[in-house]
Amino acid sequence: TLSPTLTFNDGNTIPQLGYGVWQVEDDVAEKVVRQAFEAGFRHIDTAKIYGNEAGVGRAIASSGLTPEQIFITTKLWNADQGYESTLTAFEESMDRLGLETLDLYLIHWMQPKQDKYVDTWKALIELQKRGRVKSIGVSNFTAEGLQRLIDETGVVPAIHQIELHPYFSQRELREFGASKGILTQAWSPLGQGGELLEDATVAGIAAKHQATPAQVVIAWHLAIGNVVIPKSVTESRIRENYAALDVTLDSEDIDAINGLDRTAAGEGRIGPDPAVSD
Ligand code: NAD
Repeated sequence: TLSPTLTFNDGNTIPQLGYGVWQVEDDVAEKVVRQAFEAGFRHIDTAKIYGNEAGVGRAIASSGLTPEQIFITTKLWNADQGYESTLTAFEESMDRLGLETLDLYLIHWMQPKQDKYVDTWKALIELQKRGRVKSIGVSNFTAEGLQRLIDETGVVPAIHQIELHPYFSQRELREFGASKGILTQAWSPLGQGGELLEDATVAGIAAKHQATPAQVVIAWHLAIGNVVIPKSVTESRIRENYAALDVTLDSEDIDAINGLDRTAAGEGRIGPDPAVSD
């Protein structure tokens, strides 16, 4: 099974199911990205701050896959925000990845107090104009920050990568993104493998479909239209997560998982709040 693709507002496409490598050592990244390719993944999510762009690059180089067959994302780190420093940081990431052209470059965090994200966005627009990167987007923004990028540059991000899982389902930001033509990408889609994968509702749906809890959660992301990038460094789980493509939930399952959201109770978020994180 090949992952379905979604189409960006710039006309390019992204495989809806990808593989993330946060907290994976550089040498381990080479091994697990190769395993992810073997399992069927064609979309890899890394970042400068993960310290494993070189390992990802070695896995790409030895994969036998062509650039057209794969989709690679990396991210601009906070300390590199600003127009010129973004252009430099981009080339350094490309050298580590060993790529000619990048599929997707993201601003990693909005950094509202640093307040350099508009100039940083202008550098991403320039990199796209120069053909160095096919698509540009952001991560960890607020609706107001997204609107400001649009108002000040006229260029709408292709995608917004945010913390999103059944306990923190980001309904408002997903709807805002959809209204602007911005796809939503879920980070920590499995809730980092904690309580969510022990949840009784998820377990019940998993039993019904003869699937695992992780597969049910990934299938929920796919069903509600998210791009999703689960991480694992265990080969059997990498394969299991990819096989979530074969799990089809019905509307009752999706409603039940939607009902797990804890946002109204002021809970659910695992990571920092982009509105105040600097
Ligand atoms: P995740 O939600 O993907 O959970 C990963 C953890 O879940 C694993 O370490 C493992 O403990 C467990 N797990 C995975 N598959 C499993 C399975 N089949 N069965 C049982 N347990 C399983 O967490 P994540 O790594 O935080 O997020 C995924 C990716 O999102 C990252 O690797 C990274 O690429 C991206 N990310 C981006 C940001 C950002 O700021 N943009 C932040 C966090 C993560």
